[in-house]
Amino acid sequence: MKIVIIEDEQDIADLLRYNLQRDGYEAECYYNGEDGLKGVREHSPDLVLLDFMLPGMNGLDVCKAIRSDTATMSIPIIMLTARNEEVDIVSGLEVGADDYVTKPFSYRVLLARVRAVLRRDKEEVDKGRKFVRLGDLVIDPGKFRVTTGAGRVELTASEFQLLLTLVKRPGWVFDRSQLIDIIRGEEAVITDRIIDVMIAGIRKKLGDCGALIETVRGVGYRARELE
Ligand code: CA
Repeated sequence: MKIVIIEDEQDIADLLRYNLQRDGYEAECYYNGEDGLKGVREHSPDLVLLDFMLPGMNGLDVCKAIRSDTATMSIPIIMLTARNEEVDIVSGLEVGADDYVTKPFSYRVLLARVRAVLRRDKEEVDKGRKFVRLGDLVIDPGKFRVTTGAGRVELTASEFQLLLTLVKRPGWVFDRSQLIDIIRGEEAVITDRIIDVMIAGIRKKLGDCGALIETVRGVGYRARELE
């Protein structure tokens, strides 16, 4: 299990890393938001410990950036906040933090939260009912995660919405204007041609599973209905 620590107070960060490593976790420290975000993208950790008050890019901005990137959006985040800063706690949870710990905290309390969040995350992944499946294709809507037999697939937010819409109703034909409606607002102007390009991109990314998305000539697209 790998944990990324983003905390500008270096002694706190280093002590956390030391303790977490002693407890069997891999841990990396970053002392500002920009470096921390790069570290999260580079390491794809199982959990992020994120200080709220950081110079430059603050904890909220880092949290939003992690959540808006399909490659990192499902990584659990525990925010470290100053005591009694209720506004911070609420805004942290609003932008997608999973939990928070108020400073000063004891390491034992923090470790308990880390374990609880990791356990919850694993349970969600293990609960098959959360997933939408078609053949080897598995979509986890809660985590914006798509996998095929060959492994994880990285889609843009719009591609993800298109794929989820089709796969939720195998056999149903969606015309291009319906698909445009589904992703409107995420792209500036969407045309039929853009839908075609996006579908082609999704198929390519899905590899063998790309054949599950069928073209219905003169109408639009559908997910293949499997027996
Ligand atoms: Ca700080």
